[in-house]
Amino acid sequence: MLTIDRCTLEARVADITTLDVDAIVNAANTSLLGGGGVDGAIHRAAGRELLHECETLGGCATGDAKLTRGHRLPARYVIHAVGPVWRGGTHGEPDLLASCYQRSLEVAREVNCASIAFPAISCGIYRFPADEAVRIAIDTVLENLPRMPQLQSVIFACFDHAMFERYHTELRGRQAPPSKPI
Ligand code: ADP
Repeated sequence: MLTIDRCTLEARVADITTLDVDAIVNAANTSLLGGGGVDGAIHRAAGRELLHECETLGGCATGDAKLTRGHRLPARYVIHAVGPVWRGGTHGEPDLLASCYQRSLEVAREVNCASIAFPAISCGIYRFPADEAVRIAIDTVLENLPRMPQLQSVIFACFDHAMFERYHTELRGRQAPPSKPI
């Protein structure tokens, strides 16, 4: 766990659909009409009403994010972010992934979220290399914290232990070293 000012960043092994936070982020696709992986799990847990709300949004560009309500989820909102498909890294994938995190935080700020949970966007079916994706996720959240005074908790929800270890190690690496005694 890493605490910066009033905000904690932590990794957890968790099914993101179970988290009682203001907003969970979905790793969606451009149609916003559901898919596999975490997207499918969120739609199943939130119910048909989520799909109906998504149908009104007109899709979403890669790197962007759009807001819906959480419907039957414990979370109040779902922020649907569209990550890039990994195509070797020379098609702007790192910037597009950073943009997902940035836009998700901007959307969360608009509705005053104090807590948000992210899945490892693009790290499943979209095949983004996990170590680089984890660095981008943490970097982008940390860069945006000064503009997010209402934010108190960021959870990186990991579906398996290997992903948890990546976030945990990376977060520990960002911890300021203890100050030396004089
Ligand atoms: P993408 O298409 O963006 O790659 P995926 O849903 O395939 O999205 O995978 C993104 C990450 O979410 C993967 O690390 C996957 O293991 C994880 N994941 C899948 N289901 C869940 C869930 N219910 N809660 C949290 N993470 C999940």
